[in-house]
Amino acid sequence: MNTEAPVDVLVIGAGPAGAMAAALSRRNGLSVRVLEKTRFPRFSIGESMLPQSLTLLEEAGMLEAVEKAGFQFKDGAQIVREDRKVDFVFSMKTCAGHPYAYQVTRADFDHILANEAERQGAEVRYEQDIIAADFSGDTALLTARDAAGRESRHSARFVFDASGFGRILPRLLQLDAPADFPVRASLFIHVEDHIEDAAFDRNKIRVAVHPVHGDVWYWLIPFSEGRASIGVVAEDAFLQKYPGDLTERLMALVAEEPGMKRMLRNAKPIWPSAREIRGYATAVSSLHGRNFALLGNAGKFLDPVFSSGVTIALKSASLAAPLAHRQLQGGTVDWEKEFAEPLMLGVDTFKGYVETWYEGALQTVMFSDNRPPRVYELLCSVLAGYAWDTENPYVGKSGRRLRALAQTLRNREASDQAPPVR
Ligand SMILES: Cc1cc2nc3c(=O)[nH]c(=O)nc-3n(C[C@H](O)[C@H](O)[C@H](O)COP(=O)(O)OP(=O)(O)OC[C@H]3O[C@@H](n4cnc5c(N)ncnc54)[C@H](O)[C@@H]3O)c2cc1C
Repeated sequence: MNTEAPVDVLVIGAGPAGAMAAALSRRNGLSVRVLEKTRFPRFSIGESMLPQSLTLLEEAGMLEAVEKAGFQFKDGAQIVREDRKVDFVFSMKTCAGHPYAYQVTRADFDHILANEAERQGAEVRYEQDIIAADFSGDTALLTARDAAGRESRHSARFVFDASGFGRILPRLLQLDAPADFPVRASLFIHVEDHIEDAAFDRNKIRVAVHPVHGDVWYWLIPFSEGRASIGVVAEDAFLQKYPGDLTERLMALVAEEPGMKRMLRNAKPIWPSAREIRGYATAVSSLHGRNFALLGNAGKFLDPVFSSGVTIALKSASLAAPLAHRQLQGGTVDWEKEFAEPLMLGVDTFKGYVETWYEGALQTVMFSDNRPPRVYELLCSVLAGYAWDTENPYVGKSGRRLRALAQTLRNREASDQAPPVR
């Protein structure tokens, strides 16, 4: 087995979290090696960005390359249920930061970020599958296997696990914990969309709720050049009831949502078949150890409904990289207080939104005509990814506040409809 030159920082996985952690560590003057299992460009799900992610990419000197790539501009999200429709426009947010984002093919987006990390001096090696990790000594020892089956050993003073759903350290170090949500699944495909509806706004992700099942929803993410990503999310058991292959099951579900059915009537699949991902919600008992931190999906993934995954992944790297640098300089770091707790503020914000979305309370708030204008702006901020803004009362333990507001709005609507007392 080859023993490679030691580095300060080793990053497992070259997705957004890994590329960002690598770039930031390089900017701090550390030597960095990224080991990525696949060869880029490679497909990844998660195509709708939030404005907060742009602000984070700017911090790592990666935004310019993304801005130049010609991705589809995104200025908000449209939420639809039958004849109810609401546009959340990011520029209505209450805090500082970018008011727009992009809808991206992740193969291209992730490749750009990995190249940017490389440009900043990180060594990025592809087709390197991490298969073992030993954290018993002063430096971490990782074993990688390449595409030809050759193994190599890498030692590092600090390790970022950014392996996404690969979840390398949670599995190798037994850090897995029960997820917060039931087992949900998604069917999705890329299409030439041929949407002719002049009212259709390509600058927004369209999230549509199933007309009968309030916990089943669809995404329509327009890309540039007339293409789009479409998908449906539901509890796994619900999706399994639909017969046929993956494409037939997805299209049967698309036909049940009138807007999706109408807009996509001329759509032509680009892929030979729809794809499926199941049981993606993850959690861990700890997000850090003596000389490692778990970033992005390798630590925690909630749910796709508010497109928060890449933002959380980038935020985790942005919080962790300076702490690892300080530790490697001989400083003291309280990883729980300085990394896990600040990260979880935003994760808990989104968790409250996800829970109340599926329960129905958030949909009540979103679609209500009586929702106070200020609440709309505060929701726009969170939906733009500014989920760490402590000035926003709908940040943090957001679920209780959203449930209470939904109840107030329901009571008000019920009393508005009650016949006048004589
Ligand atoms: C159905 C669905 C829809 C989604 N939609 C959105 C969305 O619209 N917007 C959004 O922001 N997020 C979305 N997400 C979430 C998003 O996909 C993830 O949160 C995001 O990709 C996480 O980034 P990451 O860097 O942590 O991991 P990843 O992007 O998954 O990158 C991890 C990398 O690690 C590599 N790796 C894995 N194992 C190993 C190994 N053994 N050795 C070396 N490398 C390894 C992988 O090959 C991969 O390149 C969605 C998720 C799902 C399930």
